Parts: sequence; structure tokens; C-alpha cells
Amino acid sequence: MSRVCAVSLPWLSLAGDILRGRAPGQAVIQYTDRCNASCVQCGMRRQNPEPRSRLGVERAGALIERLASRGVRAISLTGGEPLLYLGDVAALARLARRAGVASVRTGTNGFIFQEHAKPGFSGKIAAAAGLLRQNGVNAFWISLDSPEPSVHERNRGLPGVVDGIRAGLPVFHAQGLYPAVNLGLSRLVGGTQPLAARDGEEPAAFTARCEEALSRFFSFALELGFTTANVCYPMHESGPAGYAPVYAAADSGAIMDFTALETAALLTALDRTIAAYRGRLRIFAPRSSILALLSRHAHGLRRGHGCLGGRDFVFIDAKDMRMYPCGYRGNEPMEDFPAGGARRRGREKKCELCDWECFRDPSNLLGPLLELRRSPARGLRRLLADKEWAGVWLEDLAYFRACGWFDATRAPEPSRMAKFERRRENAPAAEAV
Ligand code: SF4
Ligand code: SF4
Repeated sequence: MSRVCAVSLPWLSLAGDILRGRAPGQAVIQYTDRCNASCVQCGMRRQNPEPRSRLGVERAGALIERLASRGVRAISLTGGEPLLYLGDVAALARLARRAGVASVRTGTNGFIFQEHAKPGFSGKIAAAAGLLRQNGVNAFWISLDSPEPSVHERNRGLPGVVDGIRAGLPVFHAQGLYPAVNLGLSRLVGGTQPLAARDGEEPAAFTARCEEALSRFFSFALELGFTTANVCYPMHESGPAGYAPVYAAADSGAIMDFTALETAALLTALDRTIAAYRGRLRIFAPRSSILALLSRHAHGLRRGHGCLGGRDFVFIDAKDMRMYPCGYRGNEPMEDFPAGGARRRGREKKCELCDWECFRDPSNLLGPLLELRRSPARGLRRLLADKEWAGVWLEDLAYFRACGWFDATRAPEPSRMAKFERRRENAPAAEAV
């Protein structure tokens, strides 16, 4: 399912948790590692002969109830392909909401949208969307790799899926669920001309090409009918010491293997493009998070806030239902979701090993609030010491509010979002390359 968690924190319960000095707990639960797609970048592609698992409703349900009792407010039911088990996912969503989990997310590689010209397509999609919505799913993603349908469909091995998404989105909307398009940043964003820096190409020229490709992507998402978007930052399975992916969506293919210079250019372009499109499309990726990652990649600067993986956020593996700090610290299995005291003790450890958006984005958004709660003087000092980052962060918070906190059961309100759209020349906070 790519490494997708898409949008939405349980913002309604946010204030209470923050006042207690905690971030709302989040668990990414890999319900299955089975998949029917063939994405070249993913260890879970259908051609891979590895044995596959699924947690099962009974075991996963008991786990979710336990997580909820220990302060988890958001769960993400991911894969593999979660909708291979649509009934299970709906049952778990219902159980989670009853247990007090405020945000339940899941999504699809889009296979359910294939064969859209066959009779009964709309009814099938309406039934799936209704089941998810009625059982409490309030964030839902659909993966899309490229603005060029043929490139996306070839990579996924899912012919016809893009036209099916176009036909199926209004049906989802009519059921009261607004899916987010999920873009995993890779060279495929360039379409039939894979996005790669040319020999001798100036960094600024490559940044401009990235910007053009990303603009095409967001325009295409709007044209398909999406109202919301999420972005997965480029990550490769090889990483620094201590990095041990257990989530097989750690990407290994050449389409993910960006050089440091390319990564900086891509993040710069992403920041500018989001600034240009966030008035028309609810784009979850916070600019403050992108700026923090960019500063580290381009200049080795520490900006933003450390990851809450292993403290308030965890990952559960489909193979054996083991818990880890995240999908990328597989050498640090955990006994249980940390209770408040343990989480407070662990706050000194600040991991920045990877760019996993599922945890990095909410960590950067919540980090300043947690710091202000724990030590108002230090929190304020840090914000004042980097006013540029603080300004972008404050705007992100205002933007999230204008987007209804990314509750996918609510239609967008363009009049509230419009003021966040910036002209290209006014937009950039990021000027790395
Ligand atoms: S990226 Fe997602 S859809 Fe593609 S093979 Fe992996 S799990 Fe399946
Ligand atoms: S930065 Fe966060 S997601 Fe990445 S390895 Fe560290 S704890 Fe895990």
C-alpha cells in the first residue's frame, strides 16, 4: 500500500492530550502484507514469493482495544492492499471507533476501480464507500504515482484503474467520503520522462523540472476529481546506521534512489508547488515539515522537531503482530504501547533517521505545542530563534483548520482555503538549491 498513512490526526482530542504533555497516540497497523499490485519499488508486490500474512479481525481487534485503552487516538489500517479484506477493515474500523479511536484511516491501490465500464460498477463502489463510511473510516487514500495514467498503471500492474478512479470518485463523494490522492514521490512523477537530473544540469534547472512535474501531478489530481492530497517523501531501503526497515514498503527500486542533490531539489519544488496548490486542493504535507527535511538534506541543519516514533507513535507488523517504534526501526521491537510516564521519560531521544511522512509530519506539527506545554520559555525561545520556520508552522496550523483538520467525511470549503494559495514568486520558504 505504499508507505501510506495519509491524512488526519484526531484533532478533536488534540487539546486534551497536549495539555497533559502528550501527543495523541497513533498506530500504523499493517493489517496484511498481501498485495495484488506489481509496484517495482515495493517488497510486497505480487510477484514477490515471500510468504504473506494477515492479522485477522479477532487478533487485530483485541490489539486495537488495548491500544485505545493506552491512549491511541488514531489508527491507520494499511497493507499490502487493505481492501483485499474490505469486510475485515470495516469491522475493525467500527470496533476502533467504539473503543474511542477518533481517526481511522485506510486506503487502496485502486484495484476496486478497475473495469469501470462493466455493469454494476457504480453500485459496487457505492457499497464499498458506504461500508467504510458507515463503520467510521474518516480518512481514505488512493495511490497515484504519476500524472500520466499509462505510467501509473504499468507500474501498479492495474490497467484501466485511472479512468475507474475518475468514475468512482463522485460515487465516494456521494457516500460522504472524500478520498485523498496519495503521491509516493519517485522518478515516475516525471511520467514517460523519469525525473532525474541530467549530466551537468544546474540544480536550479532540475528544481524547475521537478516543479513542473509536480504541478502537472496536482493539476491532474484536481482534474480527476480529488479534493485532498497527501505526499510520501522519497525514501530508500538503504539508510544510515540503525535504520532497519521492517515495513516492506521501504523502497528499493531505482525509481526511488535519488541523490542528495536531487532530493533537495525535489523537496524545494514540492514546497513551492504545495504553496501554489493548497488553496484548491487540501494538501496534507505540512510545509513546515518539508522545510525541516529540506534544511537537513541540503544544509545539514536541524530544524523542526524530532520524530515521535516509539514515544507516541508505533507500527505493528502484519507478519507477527509485533510492535516497533516505526516501520524503519525493526531492530527495536517494543513490548507495548508506551504509557504516559514512559513516553515522558523517552522524550530526550530524538530520532531523525528517516523521512517517513506518517510520523515526521505530525511530529513537526505537534512538536512545538508539546515543547510549549513542557517548557513555555524554551518553546518560545526556539520559535523566536527561527522565525521563518515558526511562521510557516503557524500558517500550517491555520491551513489545517481551514481544511477542517482533514476530516475526509467533510467536503472542502474553498472559500476558507483560497487565501493560502500563493503565487509562485511569493510562495517559497524553501530556497535550498
Ligand atoms: S506499493 Fe502498495 S500497492 Fe504497490 S505493491 Fe506495495 S503494497 Fe502493493
Ligand atoms: S525518524 Fe521516525 S519514522 Fe524515521 S526511523 Fe526515526 S522514529 Fe522511525
